Amino acid sequence: MKPAPFTHHRPESLEEVLELLVELEEAELLAGNQSLGIVMANRLATPDHLVDLNGVDDLAYVEETDDEVRIGAMTRHRTLERSDLLAERLPMLPEAAAQIAGPAVRNRGTIGGSIGEADPAGNYPAALVALEGTLHLRSGDGSRDVPADEYFIAYMFTDLREDELIESVSVPTDPFPPARTGMAFLELKRAAQTWPTVSAATAIRVDDPDADDPVLEDVRIALANAADVPLRVPDAEEALVGEPLSDAGLEEATTLVTAAVKPEGEMHADREYKEEVAGEYAKRSLETSYERAIETQ
Ligand SMILES: Cc1cc2nc3c(=O)[nH]c(=O)nc-3n(C[C@H](O)[C@H](O)[C@H](O)COP(=O)(O)OP(=O)(O)OC[C@H]3O[C@@H](n4cnc5c(N)ncnc54)[C@H](O)[C@@H]3O)c2cc1C
Repeated sequence: MKPAPFTHHRPESLEEVLELLVELEEAELLAGNQSLGIVMANRLATPDHLVDLNGVDDLAYVEETDDEVRIGAMTRHRTLERSDLLAERLPMLPEAAAQIAGPAVRNRGTIGGSIGEADPAGNYPAALVALEGTLHLRSGDGSRDVPADEYFIAYMFTDLREDELIESVSVPTDPFPPARTGMAFLELKRAAQTWPTVSAATAIRVDDPDADDPVLEDVRIALANAADVPLRVPDAEEALVGEPLSDAGLEEATTLVTAAVKPEGEMHADREYKEEVAGEYAKRSLETSYERAIETQ
């Protein structure tokens, strides 16, 4: 099938984009076109207007300030994957980017498009929920900031209004000083370039990586494709904080993750299987995060 007819608009500034979103009815933003084109070709979306963000150069950047890293919505997966700044400060993000599909999708797809799509299997939504990121939304009326864990409301349904776009995302860096931190993003996939069955995003900060038994000061666990939204599991985090990592702690966290997730069954993975994978992948991802936290010295 081919998409229904639409008018293509290619603004060159953010102000022009915001004006078009007010002016045009039935308009959809176009970023990397790695998801929207498929949806439109199947006529699951039939917008009258596409507002193409590819001419707005100042929406693509990765920047660090005193206490956060900010990423513009039009930053491509490839840029995140190769960012030295992210590799140093928030290594979960390049690891998540590198596992998205194949090079063709990563060269065009953007972080803003991934969050805009809001698929619960998406890599960045889970990573941003784990890292307590914030979404910076913009409309003709001004800006507003929404914590990632409040943005995703239900299956592919978000807090974004029709006249708004995601301008950028930010992630606080203070909780995770590189010398005491380990992060991991672990996916189970049936085939290299497909969407994951389940993914686990974890981060750990230890008190002293040189100690015999470093104590876990901060633990984050979020799952993708394990519920209708990206899912953080605070009970499992709390079960680990304040103690060195132990087999008993990991077992308790695994049990709590398995109990917390509410995945939909799929053709290749029924609900019970996905629950089990969520627990096991959270555990493996925690182990990797911990190894990385104590390896950094
Ligand atoms: C074969 C294949 C495998 C994939 N596997 C994975 C995977 O494993 N993990 C994963 O995370 N993703 C995966 N993806 C999706 C990929 O990450 C897409 O690039 C992404 O979901 C959409 O980004 P895009 O820039 O192409 O957005 P588009 O397709 O252009 O847009 C997607 C949606 O987001 C909206 N949008 C775009 N930009 C904004 C903005 N700034 N503000 C608000 N709304 C906006 C659009 O209006 C549209 O509704 C896969 C895609 C393919 C084709």
